[in-house]
Amino acid sequence: MEIEVPVVIVGAGPAGLATSACLNKLSIPNLVLERDDCHASLWRKRTYDRLKLHLGKDFCSLPHMPFPSDFPTFVPRIHFLRYLDNYVSRFKISIRYNRSVESAYLDDINGKWRIVVKDTASKEDAVEVYVAEFLVVACGENNEGYVPRVEGLEGFEGEYLHCSKYFNGRDMYGKNVLVVGCGNSGMEIAYDLSNWGANTSIVIRGPVHFFTKEMVFLGMTLLKYLKMENVDKLMMLMSKMKYGDMSKYGLVRPKDGPFLLKKKGGTTPTIDVGCVPLIKRGEIKVFSTISRINEGKMVEFEDGKDGEFDIIIFATGYNSTVLNWLKDYEGLFNGNGMPKPGFPNHWKGENGLYCAGFSRRGLDGIAFDARRIADDIRMTTSARDLPETNFAGLKLLQK
Ligand SMILES: Cc1cc2nc3c(=O)[nH]c(=O)nc-3n(C[C@H](O)[C@H](O)[C@H](O)COP(=O)(O)OP(=O)(O)OC[C@H]3O[C@@H](n4cnc5c(N)ncnc54)[C@H](O)[C@@H]3O)c2cc1C
Repeated sequence: MEIEVPVVIVGAGPAGLATSACLNKLSIPNLVLERDDCHASLWRKRTYDRLKLHLGKDFCSLPHMPFPSDFPTFVPRIHFLRYLDNYVSRFKISIRYNRSVESAYLDDINGKWRIVVKDTASKEDAVEVYVAEFLVVACGENNEGYVPRVEGLEGFEGEYLHCSKYFNGRDMYGKNVLVVGCGNSGMEIAYDLSNWGANTSIVIRGPVHFFTKEMVFLGMTLLKYLKMENVDKLMMLMSKMKYGDMSKYGLVRPKDGPFLLKKKGGTTPTIDVGCVPLIKRGEIKVFSTISRINEGKMVEFEDGKDGEFDIIIFATGYNSTVLNWLKDYEGLFNGNGMPKPGFPNHWKGENGLYCAGFSRRGLDGIAFDARRIADDIRMTTSARDLPETNFAGLKLLQK
């Protein structure tokens, strides 16, 4: 089966949904292909239960639909899913679920994208081919959990998992659990584990900024009015006043301010939901980088310390997997599956190729991308009508 649609969007996470909504607002037909059986699968299936949006709701809404006024400032995961469900119905977003995009390449003859898709819900994984003038890659920069190489990990006699498989610590009571990574996920999971009664430790391998979410909210608001340099100074002062010098507990702050570091593409500040006070009270132990795993469950660290752990949870980031299926990617992506141009020019490639959600700027970045992509497609197509056959193809899909 071959189906022609003006715009194909790969992925029904927030970025794909936002782009589709912006296109629908401009009456540009488009279709979202999603490999899972639901939209926002990351938020539904691959995040921990206690997760709330780390940033205030003013910085996280998708285009054309603010969060409801009765939602809390820091939106819980379940509320966010409800918001996304409403977003899909309100903007009448067309999604084909269980469609795993296996490859996409430019057809030399007509200059359009051919997108080859496996229908994973059909008995024999039926193949469909979509033909589109515009292809929007929205399959997520957080697509695949990244677990670093650790010497001896294959022989570890405990259990290890990536944080995308951690939901809560219900089964970890009394166990020795090591969380690797001190970003938002690592710190929050460590806090959660400790609350569930696990003997929790965390690996913190380098300097990191830590703030309460209220401080970050204030900082982001002030950035609208003050110079970044001044906001950074204020942020660091607030953190010192709240937490004091944490270096003796293993938490060292970077020299550069949090917003400058973020701008430079460095470490994102960590939002503390309660982990830092537990570290201070000694309820969560801090270790340096793992050097190797020895026999059984023994983990050795670079500073010479060691410890025995039942479970290791890697909160060590994610990889982009776009190059697994996108063949003619050079016009936009580098070999790591991230855009070659830096922000704010990262969203547009050549030959009708775009990406949404690859700026490392969360939901705010996604809203930025979606609006620009839709406007750009509108500008490209405004000089002419979209071909009749495209609309026919779309109707065929909607049957
Ligand atoms: C734990 C966690 C917490 C976060 N909290 C915040 C926050 O508080 N605030 C904030 O601004 N940002 C946050 N982010 C960052 C970012 O906003 C989210 O990751 C967001 O979900 C990214 O949306 P996305 O649509 O780009 O990607 P995703 O949500 O990952 O969606 C991509 C979709 O593409 C689908 N897909 C992938 N490959 C294929 C394929 N080959 N064929 C078809 N479909 C495919 C996937 O199934 C998925 O549904 C968080 C991220 C994580 C991991």
